[in-house]
Amino acid sequence: MLQEISPNEFHNEFEDRVPKDTDYVVAFNDEKLLMNKDLPVTVSDCKKVGTPVLQYLIRIDDTAFYLLENSDDYLDTNYQWESIRFIRGYEPQWMGYALITCIQLARWYDHRRYCGKCGTPMVKSKIERAMVCPHCKTIEYPKICPAVIVGVTDGDRILVSRYAGREYKKYALLAGFMEIGEDFEMTIRREVMEEVGLKVKNITYYKSQPWAFSDTVLAGFFCQLDGLDQIQLDEDELQEAEFLHREDLPENKDDISLTAQMMEAFRTKTYPMYEKWEE
Ligand SMILES: [Zn+2]
Repeated sequence: MLQEISPNEFHNEFEDRVPKDTDYVVAFNDEKLLMNKDLPVTVSDCKKVGTPVLQYLIRIDDTAFYLLENSDDYLDTNYQWESIRFIRGYEPQWMGYALITCIQLARWYDHRRYCGKCGTPMVKSKIERAMVCPHCKTIEYPKICPAVIVGVTDGDRILVSRYAGREYKKYALLAGFMEIGEDFEMTIRREVMEEVGLKVKNITYYKSQPWAFSDTVLAGFFCQLDGLDQIQLDEDELQEAEFLHREDLPENKDDISLTAQMMEAFRTKTYPMYEKWEE
């Protein structure tokens, strides 16, 4: 999965670092990232254009990434502003993972300029990764939205879907955001009922994944169909949903996403519940 970058190590702890010329800069503006050919711009690149205002974000091993706070000053350069869609398949993978994680932080900083309670401009905390209101002391931490991915199984079949109105047309599993007051099991039961009108049982945790593209952390679960397999499709959300036999699932070597990995685990009978549920 995207976050699995061993032997490289991800460090998200709050640090007070001085930027080096070779460190990378996440210049993010209007869902685009400033690139110097195939790589994100560096501190040195930014100094050639102007005076970068930098905020430390994360590092991978000793390679640090900074946010360019005055990206508006860099709209007209010889570097290229590129749509962030390229990040999904970017090599090396650790760089793609670092970039999208930085973009999640960049969006969060951008959306927390003012206190939501009293409207005062927020300032960065000096002791942790947080925005603080100097007037009413409200503290805001990075936005991370929990969501579930659900593999609904029925013997050697699994429920797959395609989303309505999205570019992404491959098969996916059911997924949805948690709502207030829910535990994961409640979210799963509600989402499956809302999207396809089915009941499920034996909800079992599989794996999780940060998915910074949507400020999300995904928790993946398998469960079993409970009762009839009469699908009632929520056509606002899904274009189609059906139970596919294991043999009809396309092979998927792209294991960047948890949903792809879960479908592949089902196809290859390597999901942990296989023996108990199918033998
Ligand atoms: Zn305030």
